Amino acid sequence: MKGIAQRPNTACSGLTGKRTKFARLALAALVALSTSANAQSDNANHYDLTAALDPASGALSVTGTIDIVADKRTAEIEMLLNGQLRIEQISFSREAEMQTENGITFGTYPLPRTQRMLIALAQPMEPGDHLQIALAYSGRLTTESFEMGRGIVSPLWTELSADALWYPVWYDEPDIRYTLSLDLPPKFDVVGPGRYDRVGDGKWRLSSPGIVNTRITFAASDSWTIAEREIGDGLMGAVYTARRTAKTDSILTGLEQAFEAYRTFLGTPALSTGAIKIIYPGPEVEPTYPQQAYVAGNDFIVLDESDLQVQLDTLNHEVAHLWWSRGAPATPDEFLSESIAEYLAKRHGGDLWGAEWLERQRERMRARSERIDSSLLESDGFTGDRQALLYNRGPAMLFALEDRIGRGAIDAILREVYSRRADTLDDFFEILSARHGKTMVDWARDRL
Ligand SMILES: [Zn+2]
Repeated sequence: MKGIAQRPNTACSGLTGKRTKFARLALAALVALSTSANAQSDNANHYDLTAALDPASGALSVTGTIDIVADKRTAEIEMLLNGQLRIEQISFSREAEMQTENGITFGTYPLPRTQRMLIALAQPMEPGDHLQIALAYSGRLTTESFEMGRGIVSPLWTELSADALWYPVWYDEPDIRYTLSLDLPPKFDVVGPGRYDRVGDGKWRLSSPGIVNTRITFAASDSWTIAEREIGDGLMGAVYTARRTAKTDSILTGLEQAFEAYRTFLGTPALSTGAIKIIYPGPEVEPTYPQQAYVAGNDFIVLDESDLQVQLDTLNHEVAHLWWSRGAPATPDEFLSESIAEYLAKRHGGDLWGAEWLERQRERMRARSERIDSSLLESDGFTGDRQALLYNRGPAMLFALEDRIGRGAIDAILREVYSRRADTLDDFFEILSARHGKTMVDWARDRL
């Protein structure tokens, strides 16, 4: 992270020097696809929402249910919701009381325009227990009210995600499934991760591609431009922009190159559809945090606004998340998503743009890493250091490891981490230890 940590941003991104004003919390950028038949997938919370939105005024009205399935013993549920929205009705299938508070602090970040819903259960839920929440809420969303991440509401470009807090988000249990009936004015086009079906003029039905991490997201416009082409092996790439831009072709080529580079040693990832959609509003549109980028649903990439090379560097990071999206947010295990994605992005950038470019990036990562006293091994919660550790110290260690054991050996480690679906930093160390010995693990730990 560079610069002032004023507000938490929940998106992830490859960082570069241009993105100075924004702190990233990187808590919800990722997806776990339902192709994993692990027990946890059964505990995903299910959102079933019907939303009417007028992009011209920002008026939003939502009804629906949230089926909470406790992952662990739970006595209290804390959800965040945009402070512009008023809860009109809410009921619970278990005895519970809710208090709301407007203007809160989250981690170390003050969020004056965000409300907290604190739901206290009369009896704690045990793992697997359900709580049905039926609710209705409405209000007028404004771009200024988005404190957690990028988001914008306008006819030319509407972009809503978890970070806009347009629905109640429970960050403690990020695995969710959703169905969303979306009612927009006639003629509006919509795109989202996974399935997004037009069921009438301005009427859409979206459903999550399996289990996703927190993010119910979509973009909409009455007049955007879509450029698409095959990017190899039957896979389509599409770029959505507010206005036609000359960058589109370079972005699609960058997508093709990054995808091919990672696929070469990791195999084809579990994509949710045969098309990767890149959401890039362009300079005409100013989301709250235009420098943020993220992946959702393993086929939906939201790209930042910047110079083309900076954007392609970000794209290289986000494409890596199609393979690397494991490790709980705000814990050392997030190394497996953010640090590895950033390492691979910079490495691929070096292949594209030369050794000098890569050396500059490595030097920058080292310098940023040195300014932080704490350790990635003790990363805990949404603090200012977390981002710098994940995007700088983590990849710096991987590059130092590459210097010691070579790129082929790193690839072999990553291939094993990926194929074993490892999701903790300890898993990574275990694999490193088996291949290169315990001394190498101690050496690596010292560098985190
Ligand atoms: Zn990321």
